[in-house]
Amino acid sequence: MPSRYADIVLPLAQPAYTFAVPDGIEVAEGQAVAVQFGPRKFYTGIVWRLHDRRPDFKRIKSICKVLYDSPLLSEKQRALWEWVASYYLCSMGEVMRCALPSLIKPSGDTEEELLHDEYRPRTEGYVSLAPELRDETRLNEVFEKLARRAPKQYEALLEIASAQEPDRIATGEIARRLLQADYAVLHTLARKGFICETEHLRTTERSGSRFRLPELTPRQTEALETLRAHYAAGRGTALLHGITGSGKTEIYIHLIAEVLARGGDVLLLVPEIALTAQLIARMERIFGSRVTAYHSKLTPHRRTETYLQLNRSEGGEFVIGARSALFLPLHRLQLIIVDEEHDASYKQTEPAPRYQARDCAVMMTKLFGCRTLLGSATPSLETWINARSGKYGKAVLTERYGAARPPRITLSDTLRAARRGERKGRFNKILLEKLGTVLERNEQAMLFQNRRGYAPYVTCTECGWTARCPHCNVTLAYHRNSGKLVCHYCGYTDRVPARCPSCKVTEIVPMGFGTEQVEQEIAALFPEARVARLDRDNVTSERAYQAIIADFEAHRTDILVGTQMITKGFDFGGVSLVGILNADNLLNSPDFRAAERAFQLMTQVAGRAGRRDDGGEVIIQTAEPGHPVIRQVAAGDYEGMVRMQLADRETFFYPPYARLTALTLRHHDPQLLRRAAEELAVRLRARFGHRLLGPSAPPVDRIRDEYLLKLLLKVENGASSQHARQILTAELERFAAIPAFKNITLLTDVDPL
Ligand code: ADP
Ligand code: ZN
Ligand code: ZN
Repeated sequence: MPSRYADIVLPLAQPAYTFAVPDGIEVAEGQAVAVQFGPRKFYTGIVWRLHDRRPDFKRIKSICKVLYDSPLLSEKQRALWEWVASYYLCSMGEVMRCALPSLIKPSGDTEEELLHDEYRPRTEGYVSLAPELRDETRLNEVFEKLARRAPKQYEALLEIASAQEPDRIATGEIARRLLQADYAVLHTLARKGFICETEHLRTTERSGSRFRLPELTPRQTEALETLRAHYAAGRGTALLHGITGSGKTEIYIHLIAEVLARGGDVLLLVPEIALTAQLIARMERIFGSRVTAYHSKLTPHRRTETYLQLNRSEGGEFVIGARSALFLPLHRLQLIIVDEEHDASYKQTEPAPRYQARDCAVMMTKLFGCRTLLGSATPSLETWINARSGKYGKAVLTERYGAARPPRITLSDTLRAARRGERKGRFNKILLEKLGTVLERNEQAMLFQNRRGYAPYVTCTECGWTARCPHCNVTLAYHRNSGKLVCHYCGYTDRVPARCPSCKVTEIVPMGFGTEQVEQEIAALFPEARVARLDRDNVTSERAYQAIIADFEAHRTDILVGTQMITKGFDFGGVSLVGILNADNLLNSPDFRAAERAFQLMTQVAGRAGRRDDGGEVIIQTAEPGHPVIRQVAAGDYEGMVRMQLADRETFFYPPYARLTALTLRHHDPQLLRRAAEELAVRLRARFGHRLLGPSAPPVDRIRDEYLLKLLLKVENGASSQHARQILTAELERFAAIPAFKNITLLTDVDPL
């Protein structure tokens, strides 16, 4: 007897909800269904569990309709959703919202509206020879008749009968091939019973499984063998620690080819897919149509189509995707590669689930029985420590490929240069000289500054007034191109006042500098140079981005100025100089990961120089050339950085020695917010003692007119984190039920950045 009840996950911040399964409806766990929830809304839900326990509320609604023929989620995927919800302390509905493409889960005010929005795949017409004509004599009779009386039909039938794959000829394809034969001819043939017409889902042909692989160097072969040995010995996760340009990608390619050849699926995660067109092109040259890209810049239709196509696939899929690709239905997933595993963009910060895709990939080795490879030139401390303890396997590459040598790094003291008058604008003399040489030799340079706009703030030199956002507790950045002051938190803009609004005496002046200023100064200092800029202000679309990259790649521009965006994964042969304009603001952020992050970022940027030969040079401008992290970057001393940072983390009890959970409370009324935060702190302190810190105001404590307060929970390694999660969940539920605080927004962030 079929189960009569179904717990269904809805795309709301709610746990699963029980519905009745009406007689005559057959449904499986993992399948999508349309249901009515609340007085007027219809949603797509996922059947989580089927059972016979009647829930104790009175009126139980029934499932309206089953959507799609087969489940949208496998059992393994459901296990992943459950793990994400329980580890990152969010609801299943929030996981659903993030994991499924929007068109796959329509909703509406009526059932019709929902069904109207239901995704329908595009189908294509196909024709094939009628079974009757498979008999040679009969076929020849027909040919003879047609040849005399209907030459167009004759030609069309001949084409169909002699096709390579006689069962799957797209109608459009035939019509294209026979210039004169239009669809009418085909219909006539069908009417006469000579051919059959059918409609199929469009299928992507997967090319063969023999790929032309790059030949590895002895060092690369050794690393590959080491990784294979670790996996063979039963380790689910391994780290490939290789300096920039050492050929990590080539090793990925070999591992990927192996899996595809045996019909398995591969997922390659990259930090931000919009920034990795180069990598996709490189993979397509080897794996052809096997490659599927998946990211948020695709149209909703494309993402939905991709999801459903993969769901039907028989295996041998290769997906290159951003973090959300983790949730795709790869039913034969055997290998996940997380490229640049240290990158902060693997963490989703907003909205929930605030998951870390790299950590999920590691977890998936258990849930899916697959293998995970973490690749980086500068692994995160968390990964490094797991590799050291033997929890992860590890292979290293310490040399660049071919003739390329690691770039020479020079530190240039900005204060000393200023004292000696050896500074023009934002540039020390040595950097200007090197830029001059690069241009003379017709080479290329990249200049990195991690602030966009012209200046991060404007001030009055007379009275010290600074322009601040009326809605957020931050200064407004000055964007000279648009002539505006802009809030980088809420987008508020304002005109630049002609006089100081406070003392009305002087003009206000920009302080500090961003990419826009660098670009303008370079253009003024080197009028003959072709300069481009890459940051969030001028990259509004993927196309704009591609154009800037393509120009730089083809050497239509000489100097590329940019933010973090220029650091990720590029492989430009012509770049011989990289300038880091202000290393100090990377180091002086209040975050406990600042030093690690600064090291990774600078090493990454530096790695863009001299990727083809040994002429690569990097100039780092800094006011503190003696700063240990700056010295470690200059010396390429990753291990030194790790030792020093780990010592600090251990002393101050931070990850990887403790697990953090950040709770952020938000509200318009600062007094109410304060009371709520104190109350929650008292409650949590009663359970967690000194492990709870706060409440305290974050560096930016007002955003969009809402005030913010933070609590931080630090739980030592070794303590049961599952137990801690249970206590926390229970306390947060009790807190949420307090009427006075019901309008307080509470965000939970497990393993925050
Ligand atoms: P990484 O991913 O470690 O930064 P890449 O795989 O991008 O390094 O390699 C850097 C450059 O060297 C690329 O242009 C790549 O094509 C080339 N390269 C690396 N290994 C080989 C190899 N075995 N054969 C041919 N070219 C290689
Ligand atoms: Zn003033
Ligand atoms: Zn603002």
